[in-house]
Amino acid sequence: MNNPFIELGIRHDIVNAISELGFENPTPIQEQSIPVLLTGSNDFVGLAQTGTGKTAAFGLPLLELLDFEENYPQALILCPTRELCLQITNDLKNYAKNMSNVHVVAVYGGASISDQLRQIKRGVQIVVATPGRMLDIINRNAIDFSQVQYVVLDEADEMLNMGFQEDIDSILSTTPEDKKTWLFSATMPSEVRRISKKYMTDPYELTMGAKNTGNANIEHEYYVVRARDKYAAFKRIVDFNPEIFGIVFCRTKIETQEIAEALIKDGYNADSLHGDLSQQQRDKVMKRYRERSLQLLIATDVAARGIDVNDVTHVINYSLPDEIENYTHRSGRTARAGKTGVSISIINSKEIGKIRQIEKVIGKRFIKAEVPTGFEVCEKQLFGLIHKVHNVEVNEQQIDQYLPRIMDEFADLSKEDLIKRFASIEFNSFLAYYKDAPDLNVPEDTRASREGGERFPRTGTRADFTRLFINLGSVDGFGRGDLLGYFCNQTGLVGRTIGKIDVKGVYSFIEVPNADVDRAFASFKEADFKGRQVRIEISADGDRNESRGGASNYKKREGGSRRDGGSNTRGNERSGSGFRDFSGKRREDRGERRKRY
Ligand code: AMP
Repeated sequence: MNNPFIELGIRHDIVNAISELGFENPTPIQEQSIPVLLTGSNDFVGLAQTGTGKTAAFGLPLLELLDFEENYPQALILCPTRELCLQITNDLKNYAKNMSNVHVVAVYGGASISDQLRQIKRGVQIVVATPGRMLDIINRNAIDFSQVQYVVLDEADEMLNMGFQEDIDSILSTTPEDKKTWLFSATMPSEVRRISKKYMTDPYELTMGAKNTGNANIEHEYYVVRARDKYAAFKRIVDFNPEIFGIVFCRTKIETQEIAEALIKDGYNADSLHGDLSQQQRDKVMKRYRERSLQLLIATDVAARGIDVNDVTHVINYSLPDEIENYTHRSGRTARAGKTGVSISIINSKEIGKIRQIEKVIGKRFIKAEVPTGFEVCEKQLFGLIHKVHNVEVNEQQIDQYLPRIMDEFADLSKEDLIKRFASIEFNSFLAYYKDAPDLNVPEDTRASREGGERFPRTGTRADFTRLFINLGSVDGFGRGDLLGYFCNQTGLVGRTIGKIDVKGVYSFIEVPNADVDRAFASFKEADFKGRQVRIEISADGDRNESRGGASNYKKREGGSRRDGGSNTRGNERSGSGFRDFSGKRREDRGERRKRY
């Protein structure tokens, strides 16, 4: 039977090379794009995720179309990152390993330009480049693109996100008018649509799945927890998946570093990847991750661009991305090459709306998952261990010499005792860690009320409530729902009895039934939040209530509602200079929680 790649029009020596790479059947994008691109006569737009086999989809036709007897640049591939640039170069060299005189050069920043210039000078047919360094080389008049026939814009949306539009314009202006342009993008924002209009005539368009949709092999899950429980929930999810090989996305470099540091301290195999690292440091982290000596890579969106690592089992959105499109990029790091994967989002109840928006964009429903209980984690870990013991490869030769001594040592133990002991080695530490671990899921009852936007008492009138001031607000990570949860936990009051909640920057207001005011004050008497004393007081606006419930025993706040120091300067102080202190406290808090488990 013919090899399906031969049937698509790829020659034998290339097919032999890709067979060695394990390519037996073309992926859907290869099946559909190769015949079109092999004609060499179309501009082309391919909407496809990373990991779908895009590189071969454009790489194999290029190897068929170019004239390798000649040593001038005939194809230019532009891509957003150094990692992707190296990956594409390497893939092309592998596909062409049985062909002669194929010269592919990788041009990217952060490496010696003179080596790259030397390679170009020796003669190349395919240049794979990141835009910045490419432009640098063009500006040195060190390359002639006047005979380029094909330009590939790979991960075009990423290149535009990274602000390469002008560089791309300048680079393309040095290539001939009649070249063919092939554009690949995971998403189709209007900017990509614009460049496809600008550079292409009547392109052949291929959409794998719906526009902006993620890979069908990815399962999307979300967990709703209180903001302050996020790290603990994250660790539980990781512990519940002992074989996890994941990428964890954070919004900021600081968060990335904090999470990685905390994880390392807690004994996890993790490291961070962000823009403040030097290229060398980034390469080192990536190498460890690729080799799987790292289990969790904690990354920012920008740093993770172009990461092409197969077999990533989970993408974890520790923080949801600001741009919904970044969600597609993030989740596309898993379920590559036909595998399956899970994209997890750990959110607080305020963010459920964002999940619904993402669902609309990717055209897939998220599954609402529950953070496993301590017991479930222990059980999972135990059976993970049992499975490992059962499947471990025994080195008979090496172990033989020790067997008599081992047998002797265990002579007094029954099989059952022995099994118990082996299992306990790891299990004990998990049991100790998760002893009395609390439920981290936000209770359904509270969550439902949080989702409903502004709260208002279900029974009773405003007159039945006292408006309390509390010195916690959004800078402490509270939304309305989180504050309700925190307040109810602290006071033991039921969420639905609480009235309106108004969260400001450094303080908030909560309406409490008059009958519960005493209880609220008693509960907050010695309360502290991340090392800071929590105070509640009756709001000045609560005058109307004061004469009615037990509120009159307490001092009314004076001088307007924002009265910490009489102005909002305190708020500024806390969100500005206090940041280090704030984050430091968060770490301590994590430590304390760890110890308590
Ligand atoms: P790409 O989207 O080009 O980065 O490819 C993702 C992964 O799929 C890479 O590891 C490729 O080696 C692999 N791959 C691409 N095409 C095929 C194929 N036809 N059969 C098996 N694996 C493939």
